[in-house]
Amino acid sequence: MTQTFRITLLPGDGIGPEIMAVAVDVMKQVGSQLDLNFEFQEALIGGVAIDETSTPLPEKTLDICRGGDAVLLAAIGGYKWDSLPRHQRPETGLLGLRAGLELFANLRPATILPQLIDASSLKQEVVEGVDIMVVRELTGGIYFGEPKGIFQTETGEKRGVSTMAYKDSEIDRIGRVAFKTAQKRQGRLCSVDKANVLEVSQLWRDRITALADDYPNVELSHLYVDNAAMQLVRWPKQFDTIVTGNLFGDILSDAAAMLTGSIGMLPSASIGADGPGVFEPVHGSAPDIAGQDKANPLAQVLSAAMMLRYGLHQPAAADKIEDAVVKVLDQGYRTGDIMAEGMTAVGCQGMGEALLNALA
Ligand code: NAD
Repeated sequence: MTQTFRITLLPGDGIGPEIMAVAVDVMKQVGSQLDLNFEFQEALIGGVAIDETSTPLPEKTLDICRGGDAVLLAAIGGYKWDSLPRHQRPETGLLGLRAGLELFANLRPATILPQLIDASSLKQEVVEGVDIMVVRELTGGIYFGEPKGIFQTETGEKRGVSTMAYKDSEIDRIGRVAFKTAQKRQGRLCSVDKANVLEVSQLWRDRITALADDYPNVELSHLYVDNAAMQLVRWPKQFDTIVTGNLFGDILSDAAAMLTGSIGMLPSASIGADGPGVFEPVHGSAPDIAGQDKANPLAQVLSAAMMLRYGLHQPAAADKIEDAVVKVLDQGYRTGDIMAEGMTAVGCQGMGEALLNALA
């Protein structure tokens, strides 16, 4: 029997529409092979939403997202909107989407594909076999804590304030996602904090340690964030699953991503307790190459695979897409960002065609 899924598409800005088109074609082909029916509905977010509705996240978009089974997002932002006040910027739309759907967990894999090992800036023996999942808390911590703002002091100076705060419940729910993720992987979880200096981190460490009793098959360790950053570039293979707060996770997941050397290859998932998750590439809207058929669509396509695996629980469809990505790389197809000597250069559309052929 055909299963039907309602997918909200948010192509956004820059290269977004180009890479989204490839992902949609790939999903349609896989759907027809596995008897899965995808009902796509497109909505506005980011700069394009500002242009059309004066707000980066129209209420209608949030309603459409809430009504579907999952959200596939491309990227938002661009030079055109950079000078707008903060509450009207494209990024505010993204934060609003995460908050509106209560997506408190961000999963970012950093996996080295053997075909792209030369793209890493680190030595082959350091990065070979790296397979890390960073679980980042997404809706709390210093990006949302109160008080925040730039205030006038009594002496007439300005004082900028942001507050890093976490409650027990916020730590526990991200902790549980991380322990369960580690259980599906190699069973090792490293919690990253700054408990030697920050009280909020001390609470983080206490709660994560307490949770470990419920997951006896997961080996828990702790690292201070400065040491974690060092270890990530020194010997990344020591990590399996990493869990950390919003700010540290933002930075460490980018560092982990760069181990792979190719930002155009990295997907991510943002999930909540229930309701639709948001699946999107790690990279931005790449305005420098937008509209030139130069973008690498593979992170978008792999985001669709993550959506099928973690959002729609269709592992066979996710496997098919991931296998097709490996196949086109094996066949030597490369977009500009991952081009190497002796390989076949293709644009965004060419990579899409290669994927459809690989799936056929
Ligand atoms: P970016 O990721 O857009 O681009 C960084 C560099 O990587 C650029 O040279 C770009 O051409 C290249 N690149 C990125 N994705 C690529 C792909 N798929 N294929 C080939 N090359 C690719 O980061 P940036 O330049 O710092 O930001 C550009 C805009 O994107 C800004 O407005 C920023 O706010 C926004 N942004 C959005 C997101 C998001 O939507 N989640 C994330 C980061 C940045």
